[in-house]
Amino acid sequence: TTKQLIMSEKLAAIGEITAGVAHEINNPIAVIQGNLEVVREQLGAQADSVRTEIQLIDEQVQRINLIVLKLLQFAKPEEYAGYVERYEPGGVIADCLPLVQHLLNKSEIEVRQTRSETRLVLMNRTELQQVLVNLIVNAIHAMPDGGTLTLVSMDAAGPGESPGVRIEVADTGTGMAPDVVAKIFDPFFTTKRREGTGLGLSISRTLIDRQGGRISVESEPGKGTRFTIWLPEAD
Ligand code: ADP
Repeated sequence: TTKQLIMSEKLAAIGEITAGVAHEINNPIAVIQGNLEVVREQLGAQADSVRTEIQLIDEQVQRINLIVLKLLQFAKPEEYAGYVERYEPGGVIADCLPLVQHLLNKSEIEVRQTRSETRLVLMNRTELQQVLVNLIVNAIHAMPDGGTLTLVSMDAAGPGESPGVRIEVADTGTGMAPDVVAKIFDPFFTTKRREGTGLGLSISRTLIDRQGGRISVESEPGKGTRFTIWLPEAD
């Protein structure tokens, strides 16, 4: 339809601009990082008085790096498409948990993982991990007062009864109103103001779609949210 056409042209334009800006930002960041290293070396043992400040600059520069990488992945997904491999996705889910441990430590969140899949899927492991970390971080953000994070992987049929694996990431957090749910997969849609990029879910959808998979969401305000991913079985 015309609407879809305008939307895809818009996305292409956003992609071009974004990639340009991201590349431009990369150069000054590299200069900052390089010089920070020099400052650190020069200060040596005297660095104690400014250790926290240097640490803070370092962390924030790394954060900018991550945002730029996300922007590039969104803008030029073909260039960032890694190789694919076969594996049981439950292992990837387990691998995500250490990466978010620091967030889990800060909150009263119970993690439950149930894993029963026997099938293998075909997708770049790092990309699936990226998608899952995104969903898990969002789930944790949605439960500031604690709750339960449920992670499930199981054999399940997908569209046209084709065999595959279903992965669920569910939280007992804030949930979302239907008008928010309608927009969450749009690039740059975020309700997190400064903290969010609004790219997590749109990138996730691109990565899952590319493997012939599906990602969907069910949410109820005040009750929680469940994201469901389905990936086709690897031949
Ligand atoms: P970001 O997290 O940077 O905002 P995302 O694309 O990952 O970008 O998410 C977009 C928006 O979707 C979030 O800002 C939030 O409003 C909503 N959202 C995503 N996951 C959840 C969740 N588990 N519970 C409540 N809201 C969510």
